[in-house]
Amino acid sequence: MSQTPTTTSAGIHWDLGPLFSDDDSARAAIPALLDDCRAFREAYRGRVAQLDAPELATALAELAALDNRLSRLSSYAGLRLTVNVNGEAERDLNAAVEIAMTEAMNALRFFQLEWIAVDDAHAESVLSSDLVERDRHYLASARRFAPHTRSEPEEEMIAERDPAAAGAWHTLFDQVTSTLRIPLDGEDRTIDEVLARVRGPVREQRLGAYEALFTALEPQTPILAHVYDSLVADRLVLDRVRGYSHPREPRDLDNEIPSAAVDVLLAAVERHHHLAHRWFRHKAKLLGLDKLALGDQYAPLGSTRAVAYDDATALVEGALDDFSPRIGDVARGLYRDNRIDAEPRQGKRGGAFCASIAQDALPYIMLNFTDQMDDVRTLAHEIGHAMQFQLAGERQTALSHHPPLALAEVPSTFAEMIVTDRLLAAADNEQVRLGLLASSVETAFATVFRQTHMVRYEQGAYGLRAEGKALMPDRLGEVWLDTNRPYYGDAIELPEGYRFGWAYIPHFIHTRFYTYAYVFAHLASLALYAKYREDGDAFVGPYLDFLSIGGAASPQEQLAGIGLDISRDDAWDAGFAEIERLIEMAEEIEPE
Ligand SMILES: [Zn+2]
Repeated sequence: MSQTPTTTSAGIHWDLGPLFSDDDSARAAIPALLDDCRAFREAYRGRVAQLDAPELATALAELAALDNRLSRLSSYAGLRLTVNVNGEAERDLNAAVEIAMTEAMNALRFFQLEWIAVDDAHAESVLSSDLVERDRHYLASARRFAPHTRSEPEEEMIAERDPAAAGAWHTLFDQVTSTLRIPLDGEDRTIDEVLARVRGPVREQRLGAYEALFTALEPQTPILAHVYDSLVADRLVLDRVRGYSHPREPRDLDNEIPSAAVDVLLAAVERHHHLAHRWFRHKAKLLGLDKLALGDQYAPLGSTRAVAYDDATALVEGALDDFSPRIGDVARGLYRDNRIDAEPRQGKRGGAFCASIAQDALPYIMLNFTDQMDDVRTLAHEIGHAMQFQLAGERQTALSHHPPLALAEVPSTFAEMIVTDRLLAAADNEQVRLGLLASSVETAFATVFRQTHMVRYEQGAYGLRAEGKALMPDRLGEVWLDTNRPYYGDAIELPEGYRFGWAYIPHFIHTRFYTYAYVFAHLASLALYAKYREDGDAFVGPYLDFLSIGGAASPQEQLAGIGLDISRDDAWDAGFAEIERLIEMAEEIEPE
């Protein structure tokens, strides 16, 4: 970064005082914290199987208190580093905290391992006690991997070989993709820089960006395919050893979503490709093209206007307040306590996030606010996360407040929709409305459709490897095109190089089948928003209850509580109807 432009968010920095007064006091907290972790281990190690319900409840309360102190410490260090990534003091503090966290985790790990090994009869008897009620789901669900866990020496061997069998391939993939230099307009660029160009206003540059990306990737595909082939082969072996019945099962179990419900979700997405084709044809018309090329997919539509930071915070607060004053309070608290860092500046990380901090501390938000309309939605998105963190923190324990991955993006997407509707209503011209609608539709597409193809691609690849077929670049290219074609149909022209579109996607390498959690959350959020538009205020109370569950129930149980039964084939129809509503509104806008 050379010169940081001035924005209206200048000077909006967070105050970390409520966590620690300064780095020295954070550092000073470490020795006592580690002593207490070791004392916990002394007290309970080797005894978990014998604990009766009152003893277990005491142990859980002690563990929760330690969890809160550890979370505050690592959050504080992480937030300090976020706004000054190359600062010596910040990096030193993080290194010290990292060492402390590893030591703490090593001291505490026994508890969960011993609990998983407790026999079913004893586990059931203590779990039936009211004394452990608040952590019942946490305790019960921790045991779901027990049938797939091998003996201790076997697990140790698996863990010992991991760095060479998996870690080395991850590193190789990261090295190849992060050092790839793509010649474009006389300069060498990274993958991310080139991908940012496909959202630009100039068609030639968008199409050229893909062309340059695929041309640069092609010579790397033998090595990237080999990395993937090796990882898939190894995972299939481990799946057999652990007794999994299909390659997605470990992820489904991790997400606590029944495999049959994931299949229902993916099939529902595939039944709605017609929405994509309809949008692509409409977009071609708006751009004055016969047919879209891949590089037109994210071409900007309509127009946008600048929004000052104070206007953005007021607008978001007002929209959330209208939904529920309780939610408006969450936003006001963030502003009042200076728990938002909004100004982009030298040395600060890019992007945006909401940090949950700890169960007994309030969340913080990091933004890079540049006065764009998209920044308003990002602010709403992160406040959506903060709503869930704060409400779940008030109601649940430190061990049970974290929302499951598959639900994490529900409140954020929901809050974005509340604010998008407000922006649509306030828009003073049709082209601004079109810009907002197009961006909502295309975000939904990129999340719902594209992430589903990625799952289908992975399923195809694991299927081939299980049949003994090596995952060569050509073979992967075929699977990739086969799983992508139904989405693009004949509405988008795919470039020749798209057969290498699989090659740079990190999820396939790092965490298999990760992407459907995004699909799940986005559609769930749309379906809930449809319900809100139908039920009005009657929806609000149950929704706030839903947010406050945090991690104390499975995604299926949580959504059932608010009227969404994910086992049903038609569960997701309301979500797609919301996407269709957005498309319809966009279609009604006369071209300029
Ligand atoms: Zn998010």
